Amino acid sequence: MSIELPPGTAAYSKRNPPPQNRQLLVFLGWFIGTVITIVWVAGWIASSLVWWIPPRVEQQLGQVIVPTYEALAQPSATQESLNTLLDRLEAHLSDDLHAGRDYQVLYIPDETVNAIAIPGDRVIIYQGLLQEMDSENELMMVLGHELGHFANRDHLRGLSRRLAVQLVLATVLGDAGSIGAIASSATSIVANAQFSQQQEYQADEIGLQLLHQEYGQVAGATDFFAELAQKQGVDLAILATHPASAKRVQRLEQLIQKNGYEIGERSPLPGSLK
Ligand SMILES: [Zn+2]
Repeated sequence: MSIELPPGTAAYSKRNPPPQNRQLLVFLGWFIGTVITIVWVAGWIASSLVWWIPPRVEQQLGQVIVPTYEALAQPSATQESLNTLLDRLEAHLSDDLHAGRDYQVLYIPDETVNAIAIPGDRVIIYQGLLQEMDSENELMMVLGHELGHFANRDHLRGLSRRLAVQLVLATVLGDAGSIGAIASSATSIVANAQFSQQQEYQADEIGLQLLHQEYGQVAGATDFFAELAQKQGVDLAILATHPASAKRVQRLEQLIQKNGYEIGERSPLPGSLK
């Protein structure tokens, strides 16, 4: 005797998994979707929160990160000269960007061609980058660009976003051990923070403004970035952390025109930086 299935009842086959399996798939999909959403929301909140991180907390973060770079840096005439240049730009910063802060250069004698803004108000300048500089103005534009990253809080944005995502993952997965590891990975996150094209444009804009305030003209504003744009495809650290392109140079040129900035003479590099 055969059993008749009521009409509309699907027979189980490979294409229609039994209800237990289907429920499991739905649950898994729901779980993965929830984790992705939480991670995304936490990242978004963290990146918005950077504006409310008080300088005091930033300094504490700096206390973890700065010593690693200090150990590599050399107190030298070169570092002093770089600091003198940075001080000149700092003097033009508005009060809200300047109050309670003292930006300082750490000069690292290493062939790496890069400059990094790190929590703790330090600008890392590598020897490899300095060697690419042909004028004081060109160097000032790079320093101004790094101050621009501080002004836009880019140095915290990348850090807090990635740390937040890692923290959420560690919490959801119940992996308490990795939370401790997160703090120690902060330094490498800072070194490898990759800025978006938009963040670069905004930092360039502040750099250009500072250059104009310092010299009353903007010679050298595009020198380094134009050089970098030609080196696309070359393995340079600075291209990984600060994406450069011909577009960036174009955009700077448009800004110069729009603001009616003049282009005058370039000043030579101070003796100790040649
Ligand atoms: Zn940059």
